[in-house]
Amino acid sequence: MGDRVNKLIIGVNNLIRGRRRKKPIPHDKVLVLFSHCLQYSKCPQKIVNDLAECKRCGKCVVKDILEISERYGVKCAVASGGEMALQKVYSSDVSTTIAIACEKELSGGIKSIFPKRILALPNTRPYGPCKDCCVDTTGVEKLLKRILYCT
Ligand code: SF4
Repeated sequence: MGDRVNKLIIGVNNLIRGRRRKKPIPHDKVLVLFSHCLQYSKCPQKIVNDLAECKRCGKCVVKDILEISERYGVKCAVASGGEMALQKVYSSDVSTTIAIACEKELSGGIKSIFPKRILALPNTRPYGPCKDCCVDTTGVEKLLKRILYCT
């Protein structure tokens, strides 16, 4: 599917699923899920096995995502592929996921997981696809505030 269609699916999804709520979502039901391409490609830590492996050196945005998740008291997970991501989103402990990945993965995830709520945040790819990707962490916080505090 073309990039424009994927962007359209993400935009419509976020508009509908991310609209201002009357009732906040409990913090412990929210998951911030990111694809492992955000990890610095030369980092030796095996964060896909265990996020506690991250030494929080600040060479990639994983440190910031972990800190934001802790600050807001939400779950955080990393996925190395679509199947692993779906497993985490399907968990009964999760009602809402803020997912960070490329547009193609996000668009596929939104369709596969419906009607579960996903808010999708596309990554940025300054070094090309799947390597040393990044994300605007203010966007993560904005979405968290929206669903946790109905802002
Ligand atoms: S913050 Fe540092 S230790 Fe953590 S994943 Fe990134 S490079 Fe590795």
